[in-house]
Amino acid sequence: AEGEADCDVLVLGAGPGGYTAAFRAADLGLKTVLVERYANLGGVCLNVGCIPSKALLHAAKVIDEVDSFRDHGLKFGALELDLDQLRGWKEKVVKRLTGGLAGLAKQRKVDVVQGEGQFASAHELRVTTSDGERRIRFRHCIIAAGSRPIAPPGFDLDHPRIMDSTAALELEEVPKRLLVVGGGIIGLEMATVYQALGAKVTVAELGDRLMPGADPDMVRPLRKRIDKRYKSILLKTKASVVKTNKKSVKIRLEGPDGDSEETFDRVLVAVGRQPNSDRIGLETTGLGADERGIIAVDEFMRTRVEHIFAIGDIVGQPMLAHKASHEGKVAAEVIAGHKHAFDARTIPAVAYTDPEVAWAGVTEEQAKAEGIEYDKAVFPWAANGRSLSLERDEGITKLLFDKATGRIIGGAITGPNAGDLIAEVALAIEMGCEAEDIALTVHPHPTLSETVAMAAEAAAGTLTDLY
Ligand code: FAD
Repeated sequence: AEGEADCDVLVLGAGPGGYTAAFRAADLGLKTVLVERYANLGGVCLNVGCIPSKALLHAAKVIDEVDSFRDHGLKFGALELDLDQLRGWKEKVVKRLTGGLAGLAKQRKVDVVQGEGQFASAHELRVTTSDGERRIRFRHCIIAAGSRPIAPPGFDLDHPRIMDSTAALELEEVPKRLLVVGGGIIGLEMATVYQALGAKVTVAELGDRLMPGADPDMVRPLRKRIDKRYKSILLKTKASVVKTNKKSVKIRLEGPDGDSEETFDRVLVAVGRQPNSDRIGLETTGLGADERGIIAVDEFMRTRVEHIFAIGDIVGQPMLAHKASHEGKVAAEVIAGHKHAFDARTIPAVAYTDPEVAWAGVTEEQAKAEGIEYDKAVFPWAANGRSLSLERDEGITKLLFDKATGRIIGGAITGPNAGDLIAEVALAIEMGCEAEDIALTVHPHPTLSETVAMAAEAAAGTLTDLY
């Protein structure tokens, strides 16, 4: 029984999924309550994810670019690192965004309740706030409680020398010797930051490659660059904790060349994330999650319980902010009675390493595995004028086309700003473009975006001029 509801929509969790859903619901005239345990809105992404990591990656880039001009007529003095100031700047960036969100919530009359929410039933959330417990009854609910980092057995994230991504972003110090456990996007992004700031970085990855979602040819330029910069990159290697003390962690590394033990000043664990579905009293709603903690939803973002929706990291991979926010809009619009569903052809993925690695649609590996007949066009950035003027020539732009229809089905870009450039490929996939559509689109010169046009021209057989 619904009883008397306090709101049309209750959104649990104020990350990019939750705040987007709440704002959209309010804009559509629904009485909306947004419950968030932290004082700041924005979730993992704004507070301890996408935004602070990109701020620090920018700092890393500044250091690297200055360094790369040493032999080209621009010599600066040695780096003077003021960690407090750098941290302060990063926090300012975050505050500006989270503060902005608070303003936007207020403008829309979204009722923000700060406290830890637990379902009491399929129609009621119990919220533990600083002034006691509140019960909120809802007509509809959108679960957007996100995910948290996991650690392999033996890695105690409460130990001061063992960090998850949140602790790494706090930038307490730059360790002399840093071990990054996990060669995925988050691990490699944080490795980029700490290496630039002066740490000797070792990466240990259990699998046989870095960044397993991307095609190996697209990861190669990154590998080549970091091979020169990191102390070592160990694949097929299992790291385990031998001993910890206040100042360091002794680690056993078991890899193809045998076992060894090494001591690190800090260890960053970045081996994956787990949905928060086990911490919200989900069972009282009649819903459950699978063995990975994922809540199942349909294309309307609806769970098995008709008036309860779920979005973002808690509904599974890819765990990305732009997926969460798009799903949030769908859930809000469906609740408001609009005909809408989540039917994106592609959710682009980006590693903001240096160089960046970005991909959208099917990868070549996926196409092969699924027996898709495809044509491929690859454009090396060494033949792009803008790329050379950035003193970078290692980039690659790759496009994949369906052999039968000629339509673009996938693309990948490696190089500086690949994350920005991949948006054009995503649009092309959504719109069902053929190579010629991109080739005939006049791209500004000289830009890195021309590499997409050039790859398309190569596919269309019209490539003439370079540079
Ligand atoms: P979250 O952002 O996890 O938000 C969930 C919110 O719910 C949190 O604020 C939490 O406090 C709240 N909550 C949970 N349980 C309760 C409860 N019981 N009561 C009250 N509140 C609760 N993605 C990208 O797309 N691009 C990137 O560059 C990128 N970089 C990243 C870097 C790092 C270091 C990390 C860790 C992640 C990164 N991500 C990135 C992933 C991105 O942060 C997530 O995909 C995104 O935040 C998921 O959004 P969400 O709304 O599902 O959940």
